Amino acid sequence: MRNPIVAGNWKMNGSASFAAKMSQQVNVFAAGLNVEVVLSPPSVYLSQVQQAAESYSTAAQNVHFAASGAFTGEMSVSMLQDLGCEYVLVGHSERREMFAENEQFVAKKVAAVVGASLQPILCIGETLEQRHSGQAFDVVKQQLLSAISGLELTAGQLVIAYEPIWAIGTGETATPEQAQEIHSYIRGVLAEQVSAEMADKTRILYGGSVNAETASQLFSQPDIDGGLVGGASLKIEDFKNICSAAANR
Ligand code: PEP
Repeated sequence: MRNPIVAGNWKMNGSASFAAKMSQQVNVFAAGLNVEVVLSPPSVYLSQVQQAAESYSTAAQNVHFAASGAFTGEMSVSMLQDLGCEYVLVGHSERREMFAENEQFVAKKVAAVVGASLQPILCIGETLEQRHSGQAFDVVKQQLLSAISGLELTAGQLVIAYEPIWAIGTGETATPEQAQEIHSYIRGVLAEQVSAEMADKTRILYGGSVNAETASQLFSQPDIDGGLVGGASLKIEDFKNICSAAANR
């Protein structure tokens, strides 16, 4: 059985007081819940949120693949290790689109994260146009394989977030059937291209306007192992209900 994950991606939202309040409340509700709760605050609050962690893990929203050097504004994997941060979001569509991160760049980041024994949450997903033209399967396969090819991955180290771009921040959620279809396909690609063990142990999260209403049905699908949650992770009651839905699936 794969332990479900619900990760809250705050994106560029929040404040020091929001981070303090959220950390405290998540510590309370996540204790004893049969789900791994992960908080991904803006990097400036990562240390604060990590230090307050009692019953959740943390994820950086970004990392650079170089060990150190002249990369103004960036952070390295060893800096994240210093904090005790366990996960890193890699390949989020906002970074691919707004910050021109191509597949080579994403692959280098995944390699750096894995090399530091941190866990990448690799985000993959198609645009609406790609879905309508029947390319969704090919797109996610290409994004997945380009990100992990040549890597020595421990089974379970990689976390994948299937995030159809048309569903991110739009209020439009993939149906549980649409999401399950792609999740099962991704697991099949892992089985075929890596190993059966890798396919079995990799947690595949769904992301794209998950809310307290849609979470239960999504998480009850056999290949959906939790969620990557943006907007709804900023509201404590919604986030709590989404985490409970994952625990009770
Ligand atoms: C995300 O940013 O990863 C995301 C899924 O956002 P939202 O839940 O707001 O669609």
